[in-house]
Amino acid sequence: MRHDSLMAASHIASLSRSISGRILSPDEPGYDEHRRAWNTAADQRPAAIVLPDPDDVAADVSSTLVAATDADLRVAVQGTGHGATGLVDESAILISMSHLRDVDIESGRARVGAGARWSDVVGPAAGQGLAALAGSSADVGVVGYSLGGGIGWLARRYGLASNAVAGAQVVTADGGIHWVDAGHEPELFWALRGGAANFGIVTELLVDLVEVSTVQAGALVWPRDRAGDVLAAYAEWAIDLPDEVTPTLVMSAPPSGAIVMIGVCSTGSGDDLDAILAPLRELDGQLEDTVAAMSPADLGRVHRDPLQPTSSVSDARLLEQLPAGTARGLARHAPGTDAALAPLAAGRGSPLAMVELRRLGGAIARGGEGHGALNRLEGDYLLFALGIEDVTGSRASIEAGIADVLESLASFETARTVLNFVDHPVTGQTEFDPQTYRRLQALRAQMDPSGVLLAAHPI
Ligand SMILES: Cc1cc2nc3c(=O)[nH]c(=O)nc-3n(C[C@H](O)[C@H](O)[C@H](O)COP(=O)(O)OP(=O)(O)OC[C@H]3O[C@@H](n4cnc5c(N)ncnc54)[C@H](O)[C@@H]3O)c2cc1C
Repeated sequence: MRHDSLMAASHIASLSRSISGRILSPDEPGYDEHRRAWNTAADQRPAAIVLPDPDDVAADVSSTLVAATDADLRVAVQGTGHGATGLVDESAILISMSHLRDVDIESGRARVGAGARWSDVVGPAAGQGLAALAGSSADVGVVGYSLGGGIGWLARRYGLASNAVAGAQVVTADGGIHWVDAGHEPELFWALRGGAANFGIVTELLVDLVEVSTVQAGALVWPRDRAGDVLAAYAEWAIDLPDEVTPTLVMSAPPSGAIVMIGVCSTGSGDDLDAILAPLRELDGQLEDTVAAMSPADLGRVHRDPLQPTSSVSDARLLEQLPAGTARGLARHAPGTDAALAPLAAGRGSPLAMVELRRLGGAIARGGEGHGALNRLEGDYLLFALGIEDVTGSRASIEAGIADVLESLASFETARTVLNFVDHPVTGQTEFDPQTYRRLQALRAQMDPSGVLLAAHPI
């Protein structure tokens, strides 16, 4: 396809005639605001942006898919852009859902608009004594997070958020509008839960909430120079926890000083968690202990994720296991420039903003009848490393820093990763087992033969 400006202008004019909903071309006010992703590293420049009418979302998405197919364009969708992988260029129309944040909670389920964030859900859910399977940041979109797997603070007890999806309104590549759930179009329902925008564009999602009105949660924090001991203690401690406890270890370097932090959330009692945390609280040098009873609506504060859009470069791997001695060695990748780490880090500053080890296992590792394509995750830990371009380092230095971290634990990797934690496009081959991937590919070929749907991670 040619993409000179004349051609583009005639495309937009004919698209405007056949697409219902507001359409923004590159020279119109609002285009720049809506093309932006939360991850600003993704410089998206679509041929046009469609903002569906809140009263007619599915019809507007449907007309967009039909018109795009006719014009030989692709269609991508964005809720918040937390998961943008930079694939959206002038060969695609971007449907922006960010204004569609309605949430309705009834009978233990949340029905959410395609642009709803967890922050729109967790408060109203808590008001009914319920919790959502939200992740570390309440700013993340419910739809992208849930369809991509969704590993949250309650994950070891209740599993992946994708398996808490109870139904969805979906517009398929041919423009068809469907309600899918366990009883309606079960194959499409299965594929969406892991395969996301490869199979359709969700205009409304129904997610199960869980009956949890209080959690025990917070963070234990040490200075960066304690990272080696804290990592080794964590690797020994985290391996034998009850499913009600979901912990993570984060090394980061906020402006207040480089730290190593163990964040934790438990659905059990405060006394039980105190007993479980005792060995960690004995480690010297602790700076902070914020673990306390709280509403699940406040869990978004525990992990200390950035609140403003950032230009992040990151990668992730699943680790089968992590011996304490090996975990200790990860300290040399700790973000920051603390001189006390000089013998380990040779005195140089790290290009990374964050290195994280999320404990998996529990319900995350258990497959289940009726689960989606992403049935379960194998491995004891998710290893995640991230830098912020032009803040913690250049893209090249961050990529080298991430490669160093991954290389140091390469012998413990499973063959898989989790696409929610990968901000560059990779095919689902790395997320799914070969049999599941073939089944997804076959369905994709059948449902979207011309490949109009452009997902963050293509199948
Ligand atoms: C600060 C931060 C914290 C995070 N914490 C966690 C965490 O704790 N656990 C976790 O699992 N993940 C976490 N993530 C990753 C996050 O879940 C993914 O980036 C996810 O893709 C974000 O979804 P979104 O809708 O907000 O983003 P978007 O970029 O808008 O969407 C990402 C992709 O999802 C698909 N998608 C979005 N909307 C639709 C739709 N309506 N229909 C079909 N497909 C759609 C598309 O392929 C889209 O490209 C975090 C990310 C960040 C940046």
